[in-house]
Amino acid sequence: MGVFIPKEYGGAGLDVISYTLAVEEISRGCASHGVTMSVNNSLACNPLNKFGTEEQKQEFLKPLASGEKLGAFGLTEPGAGTDVSLLQTTAVHKDDGYEINGQKIFITNGSKSDTYIILAQTNKELKHKGITAFVFNSDTPGFSPGTLERTMGIHGSIQSELNFDNMYLPESQRLGAEGDGFKIAMNTLDGGRIGIAAQAIGISQNALDLSIDYVKNNDLIDKTFGRSQGIQFILADMATELEAARLLVHKAAFAKDTKPRYSHEAAMAKVYASEAAMRITSKAVQIHGLYGYTKRYAVERLMRDAKITEIYEGTSEVQRMVIAAYLDKLDV
Ligand SMILES: Cc1cc2nc3c(=O)[nH]c(=O)nc-3n(C[C@H](O)[C@H](O)[C@H](O)COP(=O)(O)OP(=O)(O)OC[C@H]3O[C@@H](n4cnc5c(N)ncnc54)[C@H](O)[C@@H]3O)c2cc1C
Repeated sequence: MGVFIPKEYGGAGLDVISYTLAVEEISRGCASHGVTMSVNNSLACNPLNKFGTEEQKQEFLKPLASGEKLGAFGLTEPGAGTDVSLLQTTAVHKDDGYEINGQKIFITNGSKSDTYIILAQTNKELKHKGITAFVFNSDTPGFSPGTLERTMGIHGSIQSELNFDNMYLPESQRLGAEGDGFKIAMNTLDGGRIGIAAQAIGISQNALDLSIDYVKNNDLIDKTFGRSQGIQFILADMATELEAARLLVHKAAFAKDTKPRYSHEAAMAKVYASEAAMRITSKAVQIHGLYGYTKRYAVERLMRDAKITEIYEGTSEVQRMVIAAYLDKLDV
C-alpha cells in the first residue's frame, strides 16, 4: 500500500517502476483492488510524502503506507471536475485553524477510508491560486461520508460523497502552504495517472490471456477457430498494442523515478494505455462471440472496468491538453 514510500515511513522503499508492476499485476486479477491500492499509493501517500511535514508523515503517512489504514483523495465536486478552479468547498480561518464547509463527490475509497486529503478554497477570488490542501482522519467532527455511487464497472471499488459541515482543522493539518493546493493536486495527479495507466495494462493483459485461452481451449467452438488467421491477427494486434502501452507506462514510471517533472510522460502513458484497454477489451468480447456478451465469461466485465481508466484522474481530453501544452513549449 506504500510501494515507493521510504521504509522509515512505513512503505516498501521500492521505485515507481516496481509500483506500476504491482498495480498491473493486482489489476490483472481485479481492477477494483487495483484502483483501491493505486489511490492509497499515488493520491494519499505520495502527496504526504512529498509535501507533508515530519509530524504529518509520522501521524498520517506511516499507517497508510504500511497498510494499517486506507486513504482517499477528494478533489471533485458537483460543479468542479475537469476545471478545478470552480471548487466551492471553503476553508475559512477560525482560531488557529480552518473551518471547512462543502461537498466532494465520487471519491474512491470514500466511505471506507481512515485518512483523507482534500482540496478547498481559502481565497475564492484567486480561483486555482486560492486552493489549499488539508489532511484529516475520518473521526473528525463535522465530517460525514454520503451516498455511494452505482457505477458501470469496478464494482468492488467504492465511490462516495464527502460532506463537511463546519469541520474544524488546526493549521498543523494544512498540507503545504496556503494557496499551494492546485500545485499539490496537479503534482499528485501526474503520479496517479501512471498508476491508472498500469491498471489499464493489467485489465488488458487479463483480456488478452482470456482471449488466447478461449481461442485455444474452448470445446464449444470449431477446432479450426484458433487457427483462423483472422482471429490470430486480432490477437496479434491486441498483444502488440498492449506491449506498446506497457512500455509507455514504464517510461513514465522511470521519468517519475528520475526527473522532477514528468507530466507529459504520465499523460501519454494514461491516454494511450486507457484507450488501448478499451480497444483490447472490446476485441476480447468480439472474439468470445455471443458468450462475450454474457456474464458467463469475464470479458464483458473487463470492458466495463476498462472504461473508467479513460475518465478518472483526468479524462483522455485532459491528457491531450497536457501533451499539447508540452508540445507548445518545445523549441523546434
Ligand atoms: C469511478 C470514479 C472514481 C472517481 N474517483 C475520484 C477520486 O477518488 N477523487 C476525486 O477527486 N475524483 C474522483 N472521480 C472524479 C473524476 O476524477 C472526474 O469524473 C473526472 O476528473 C472528470 O470530471 P467530470 O466528470 O466532472 O467531467 P467534466 O469536467 O464535466 O467533463 C465532461 C466531459 O467534457 C470534457 N471536457 C471538459 N472540459 C474540456 C475542455 N476544456 N476541452 C475538451 N474537453 C473537455 C471532459 O473530458 C469530459 O469528457 C472519480 C470518478 C469516477 C467515475
